[in-house]
Amino acid sequence: MITFEEALTKILERMEAMPVTSATVRELAGHVIAENVIARIDSPPFDNSAVDGFGVKVADVANVGEASPVKLSLKGVIRAGDRGDVNLAPGSAIKILTGATVPPTVDAVVMKEFCNEKNGNVEILESVKAGENIRRRGGEFLRGQEIVRGGLRATPPVVGLIANLGYRTFPVYRKPKAAVITTGNELTKPGRDLMPGKIFDSNSYAMSAAVRACGIEDVLSLHAAEDERSTRDVFHRALGFADVIVSTGGVSVGDYDFVKAALESLHVETHIWKIAMKPGKPVYFGVYTTPRNKRKRYVFGLPGNPVSALVTFRTLVVPAVAKLMGVRDCADELIVRAELTSELRKKAGRLEFVRGRLKHEAGKLYVQPTVGQDSHMLGGLATANALITFPLEAEKLPAGQSVEVRLLNW
Ligand code: AMP
Ligand code: MG
Repeated sequence: MITFEEALTKILERMEAMPVTSATVRELAGHVIAENVIARIDSPPFDNSAVDGFGVKVADVANVGEASPVKLSLKGVIRAGDRGDVNLAPGSAIKILTGATVPPTVDAVVMKEFCNEKNGNVEILESVKAGENIRRRGGEFLRGQEIVRGGLRATPPVVGLIANLGYRTFPVYRKPKAAVITTGNELTKPGRDLMPGKIFDSNSYAMSAAVRACGIEDVLSLHAAEDERSTRDVFHRALGFADVIVSTGGVSVGDYDFVKAALESLHVETHIWKIAMKPGKPVYFGVYTTPRNKRKRYVFGLPGNPVSALVTFRTLVVPAVAKLMGVRDCADELIVRAELTSELRKKAGRLEFVRGRLKHEAGKLYVQPTVGQDSHMLGGLATANALITFPLEAEKLPAGQSVEVRLLNW
């Protein structure tokens, strides 16, 4: 059986980014940018004031202080948006508001707090150095400069940056479409009466939510009845629509586990089946190439147990979908170390992701395993905000040990 790390590496090696399209700045959020951001203009585009204050000549305000102010004649105002083509003569000052043009004849801006405006004059109580409170043209970027590389998520600041440079549209990776497939005859839709032997379907909802939380909007939910034909038909439908397919259940070695056989009969190439991890030993990963345009479909057959499905989704599918969506650094970024607050035990041979609650106290991170660690116990995962790595060969982690923790940032 391959290890968790080997499985993740293998999956990420197979994933290719979606084709590139273009999004308007309005639609940019949630996409991944497909090209480096280059400054289209100098930024700031012109010399402007960092403060509300008065533009002066440095020579006029040399040696002034609160006890020895200088009086300058006020020549008007430049507001943000004004052209500001003013010629400032010695002995005079001009009111300049934040973001307003600072003309070349102004050496510095004195903050309003150090000035008294009176009867067409302004008293300056502080001396300033040349350039003080002026944000220079090109002070952050020069036109043509590369600012960030492609493969970055369009987070709010990235959206702001791209808009700030004047782009109306920007190249992005197309968002993938997903299908979520449940299997099993025991499933009942929430809200219906629960008959003997049946359980409410939770995976369909949890997996759709998890897929959406990755930034995918187009999610189709399907259900396969427990026979080979139905399983095959449902996957066939999904392969016709979705770039990424996530199924739950039916992937183990039980008499009714049809997922792997169905996928193979549909010519999906199996890359992984079973990983030495817990929860979630039975995990299938395969890739299908569409015959006509050679598009790739990535299939994740996750275990049926709700906690196993979500933990394998978080640890394997989340990084894979990030790569599919175009993220360059798709390896888990949110891995930290924390001190374990109570002892953990297990058998050697599988890496375990223990559900835990991370807290910050007196400058230190602590992690406490949650109650309900079995793979059907959703409560123990719902109250967790982190997964503790219990390494493959380890059998005991004592309290006080420093452990690796993945944040559950759904
Ligand atoms: P399986 O891998 O199909 O044998 O399923 C393993 C366990 O997960 C069984 O107890 C199933 O009843 C349960 N299970 C499978 N699918 C779902 C689902 N959609 N919602 C909740 N539990 C499920
Ligand atoms: Mg089943």
